[in-house]
Amino acid sequence: MSTPTLLLLPGDGIGSEVTPATRKVIDWFQSTGRATFNITEGLIGGASYDVHGIPLTDETVAQAKKADAVLLACIGGPKWDTVSYDKRPEAGLLRIRKELGLFANLRPAHVFDALAAASALKLELVKGLDIMIVRELIGGVYFGEPRGIETLPNGERRGFNTQSYTTSEIVRIGRVAFELARKRKGRVCSVEKANVMESGVLWREEMTKLHAAEYKDVELTHMYADNCAMQLVRAPGRFDVIVTDNLFGDLLSDLASMLTGSLGMLPSASLGAADSSGRQAALYEPIHGSAPDIAGKGIANPLAMILSFAMMLRYSFNMAANADLLEKAVHSVLASGIRTADIAEQGQPTVGTTAMGDAVVKELDRLAKS
Ligand code: NAD
Repeated sequence: MSTPTLLLLPGDGIGSEVTPATRKVIDWFQSTGRATFNITEGLIGGASYDVHGIPLTDETVAQAKKADAVLLACIGGPKWDTVSYDKRPEAGLLRIRKELGLFANLRPAHVFDALAAASALKLELVKGLDIMIVRELIGGVYFGEPRGIETLPNGERRGFNTQSYTTSEIVRIGRVAFELARKRKGRVCSVEKANVMESGVLWREEMTKLHAAEYKDVELTHMYADNCAMQLVRAPGRFDVIVTDNLFGDLLSDLASMLTGSLGMLPSASLGAADSSGRQAALYEPIHGSAPDIAGKGIANPLAMILSFAMMLRYSFNMAANADLLEKAVHSVLASGIRTADIAEQGQPTVGTTAMGDAVVKELDRLAKS
């Protein structure tokens, strides 16, 4: 197989700090011969706007389409608050997701034992927690037509959006969830509001059909979205894979991520459809933003981006052993008490971005030799 290509997009704010820390980890895998990549870098978000006047150029889109995987840090910041919406950093992010056809957003909510005490929930509820939320990303109410704000004959204004899903949109996200469950604990919970929405009725029917036709070995349950929000707080350990639409996924994945304690720890993956050769567009990114309040201080936590790289190894490059090794290194670093400020308990000493990245590399070295 030819050397895979990786496009690195540092973006804005703390992106220029967490990316070099992650790059050292990537370089460790390269220098030890465990993985080799052709790496290119590009601009996105405010960084692209400052140079090109737009948050994502056609050239960067072409680079992303050519790459086997894209690793993005984060975009945005107050510097671009007065820029028109179509040229804001966020528009660049939406465009790259759309251009790559990234319909499946994978958000693990994984609680590291060493950080379990930082969760907003009781220790016994979150210890060992490992949920994967699969959110449909390019359909549903965020994209449905018609949409808009109109003025009614009586002078009142009316805002409206359309929730809509087709069979094929439901089936392709369902497949992603069932396939993931097969590699995990074998359970999928499909979430909608079939009690009050026709799109939810169709969602439930299609998930049930797909399950019966292709995935009988996986356990399928259905849950209304409001109940799911409650259960995530009441008994999160009952879930393995949750699959849901764009809107509910947006809310439930943020909720689940907070069970784990810190934004600076959480990776994500967004995947497209596989082409005839099995090649699948993929973008990996931390779920946090550009953290303007701490940007430039060298204190951002790089672990979310490092763990996003681990997801890339697992899902784009089928390198489960390398992904396991990297995740184990992160576990050990945390278990040894090394903390950036965002995950430190009161009074605990902290390290900066570079030192945290270096600690992971050192731990990789140690684990590789043991
Ligand atoms: P944010 O995620 O940037 O920050 C929220 C809080 O979490 C801040 O206090 C920040 O300091 C902290 N934080 C975030 N990441 C951290 C890390 N790695 N280490 C330590 N602390 C961390 O969200 P926000 O403040 O709402 O948004 C700031 C900007 O980021 C906005 O312009 C927003 O549009 C953008 N944003 C981008 C993305 C993305 O790139 N995918 C996601 C969310 C927000």
